[in-house]
Amino acid sequence: MNHLRWHALLQQWVAVSTGRQDRPQMPADWCPFDPGSGKVPDAYDVYIYPNDFPAFSPAADPFVPTTGLFAKTGSRGACDVVLYSPEHTLPPSQLTVENWRKVIGLWADRTREHAANPDIALVAAFENCGEAVGVTMPHPHGQIYAMPFIPPNVERELASAAQHAGSHGGECLHCRLVSDELKQGERIIAAGEHFITFVPYAARFPAEVAIYPRRHVRTLLDFNDDEKSGLAESISIIRKKYDALYGFVMPLMMIVKQAPLRQPQAPYHLHVEFLPLQRSATKLKYLASIETGYGTFLADTAPEQMAENLRRSEPATAAVK
Ligand SMILES: [Zn+2]
Ligand SMILES: [Zn+2]
Repeated sequence: MNHLRWHALLQQWVAVSTGRQDRPQMPADWCPFDPGSGKVPDAYDVYIYPNDFPAFSPAADPFVPTTGLFAKTGSRGACDVVLYSPEHTLPPSQLTVENWRKVIGLWADRTREHAANPDIALVAAFENCGEAVGVTMPHPHGQIYAMPFIPPNVERELASAAQHAGSHGGECLHCRLVSDELKQGERIIAAGEHFITFVPYAARFPAEVAIYPRRHVRTLLDFNDDEKSGLAESISIIRKKYDALYGFVMPLMMIVKQAPLRQPQAPYHLHVEFLPLQRSATKLKYLASIETGYGTFLADTAPEQMAENLRRSEPATAAVK
């Protein structure tokens, strides 16, 4: 049975879900995500359904915070698959802005449903794209994990934001970062009415990018319609730039980070992170001993240079394979 185990040294939960070993590789002759497969409706624009191999599920035992060297608890939550498009071969960079708008609407709807469920602490919407990221299904899709605890990276960002607010009269750390990035300018890729897109100052991944709403927005539920459309446009632009950068679909992780559901005071500012794994046209970035074992990232490209490369990367001049 799926459960969570406490890692006493790193002070974080590890989700043990042995059923995931039985996940199928992509079937060679048919795609379960295609309309008419029997698995999904005969027609859809975007579609969400429960993951067949969930790390967190409604049927698991409830999560009860506990301590101790060998602490163990239930992994009650939910894992969904989000299908972006009925078209099997369409890379996400080729989705229309309207299509992304529907995906974002779906993220927000699911967040609203989970907000009514006291078992859920945080809703994580993300996409693993490309074989280099370990994707078993090439049909364009993302996922939503509803987690019963706040994952360590978000916990750490919350602690940083609380510390900053404490020493800066309540100022939001993220709002300040965005405003300083705009002032410095050299890492900005796009600055629209509602969103800015930039390479973070201390980017850890090659061509790492963040999209931030200009307004202090905590969760997907706080976006107005204009902002949802603005985010759709920003995502569309950066995905096209990524695939034009080397002329093929960029292997990456796209991660929507939002505030915890049950902590209205928690200092957080929604943003979308893109963590690509391609460090040049021919080389992948591997998370090796220093990154994985010690948690320190080695970056091969200056963020300012990568921002310039992405500003110049134009889809019209490069065919996407
Ligand atoms: Zn398909
Ligand atoms: Zn803010």
